[in-house]
Amino acid sequence: MNRDSMKSFDACTLCLQSAINPMADLDGAIYCKQCIYQYLLDQKNLYKKMMKEYKKYKEEEKLEEQEKEKQLEATRIVAFVEREKGAIPDSSAKKQKEQINNFWLPASTPAHVKSKLKKPSSVILSPKGTPIKLKDLITLNLTPLPTLDSAKEKKSTILTKDKYMCPTCNKSLSNVSGVYCIVSTGNVFCQHCMDTVIKKDLMDPLTNTKFTEKQLLKLEAEGSSFACRSGNTLEATKVTPAPRL
Ligand SMILES: [Zn+2]
Ligand SMILES: [Zn+2]
Repeated sequence: MNRDSMKSFDACTLCLQSAINPMADLDGAIYCKQCIYQYLLDQKNLYKKMMKEYKKYKEEEKLEEQEKEKQLEATRIVAFVEREKGAIPDSSAKKQKEQINNFWLPASTPAHVKSKLKKPSSVILSPKGTPIKLKDLITLNLTPLPTLDSAKEKKSTILTKDKYMCPTCNKSLSNVSGVYCIVSTGNVFCQHCMDTVIKKDLMDPLTNTKFTEKQLLKLEAEGSSFACRSGNTLEATKVTPAPRL
């Protein structure tokens, strides 16, 4: 696989740069803390704006209903007047009725043209379209590569992408097949260590704390695993966040 064409595994889903203060959602998407906070705030404001429009629409709809009711009432009055006049509808009564109908016509016509406005959903969706909540975001504890400075000096495009390593095997996380995070601790490991050691003990080797298999989250690098996302989100959606103390 051509690593150069792939974005770094820690790329922020929103700004596409290497994430600063990286956080992950329950889908394994990575964000800068600031980017995702701003995103959630924007979505919240958008919802508020849409809700305001919706309320206005509902009020207008109510007014239109009242006008329709008035129109009906007017028709009823005309009918009543006609009946009172002696049951034979003469031409003047007919004319009066038409006038009333015509009077109400412009008000009722746009109501039929106007499209129905749906009530906006209060559920905030992630950029990838799955529900996302601030309290579910996981702060990632990534282990920096000790050789970062020397790698920068070499000016290699591949090496400068490598910022973090797996804390158990010390391999750069940009060169492993998969990156996993333990939801309860936020610690990040390579797939190999996860499969061969950590998953077997269900013990975070950095904190020596137990975790459940449901608290394992595969981190999805932006752009590198998008193609196969459609069928593999089951694992991520099953994840339950650790109870906050
Ligand atoms: Zn960002
Ligand atoms: Zn490892």
